[in-house]
Amino acid sequence: MDYQAVIDGIAEEVRPLFARGRVAAYIPALAAVPRDRFAMAVLTADGALATTGCAGEPFSIQSISKIFTLTLALRHVGEKLWKRVGREPSGSAFNSLVQLEYEHGIPRNPFINSGAHVVTDSLMQERPYARDTLLAFVRELSGNDAVAFDETVARSEAETGDRNRSLAYFLKAEGNLTGDVDAVLDVYFHQCALAMSCVDLVRAIAFLARGGRGVDGARVVSAGQAKRINALMQTCGTYDAAGEMAFRLGIPAKSGVGGGIVAVVPGKLSIAVWSPALDKTGNSLAGVRALELFTGRTGLTVF
Ligand code: GLU
Repeated sequence: MDYQAVIDGIAEEVRPLFARGRVAAYIPALAAVPRDRFAMAVLTADGALATTGCAGEPFSIQSISKIFTLTLALRHVGEKLWKRVGREPSGSAFNSLVQLEYEHGIPRNPFINSGAHVVTDSLMQERPYARDTLLAFVRELSGNDAVAFDETVARSEAETGDRNRSLAYFLKAEGNLTGDVDAVLDVYFHQCALAMSCVDLVRAIAFLARGGRGVDGARVVSAGQAKRINALMQTCGTYDAAGEMAFRLGIPAKSGVGGGIVAVVPGKLSIAVWSPALDKTGNSLAGVRALELFTGRTGLTVF
């Protein structure tokens, strides 16, 4: 399969969509990103890389970072993590307070914001310097020592992060956040502010396409844990549109409000796409279409 030709064709075809949708504005540093940026990268399980657009340009990965903190928590905290966070799609907004109150402070899944706060808090109990642990981890997975936190975005997150503060304090009140709220949120705001390119991302998530082994062949998580992370991406990875994404893409994917989406075809390849303008569900408009075209044209799907 000539993935290079496939993604070059897709890049051309989705161009008219750049003008549609909205760039996330609730975090001011994200609102400043030009909406005509587009990139896509594909890395096959045997190591062939295809890229199109600005695939080496770092962007704010936002919620895609929840894959990396969850992976670290599964490594360091293990199965007891599931006592504190569920594994069901939320059917509500990713930052919903209402659901968390009804459900007594147990977040539905690790990919909504409250779930991510619990994951980060759990990780910090085992790895107090979680920010450094996370940065070293994504650098190692992507093979790129230049991966860094974008401090402007992190500050912007903190300045506008009152909803995250509300969620974290509510978790604390329910006894499901044990550390210092500000310390947990500092890690959370930084993880969202990780700047990575599509090339960094396809390498960093390659372990999900390779039964838990990274690009260098080293084990990142067990094959069973990789399966579970993929299952969570499929059911909970794209905000309140996971059903629609399963329908349209047919592969596990995780998106972020920076306009990035990562996806995997287990056993075959990892994909990353970036286009900043979002649809009404908060997923990259051109990014979703690009992935839909990709799975349609290649016939690759988990279904
Ligand atoms: N930093 C964003 C927030 O906490 C992440 C949102 C996202 O990408 O889903 O609202």
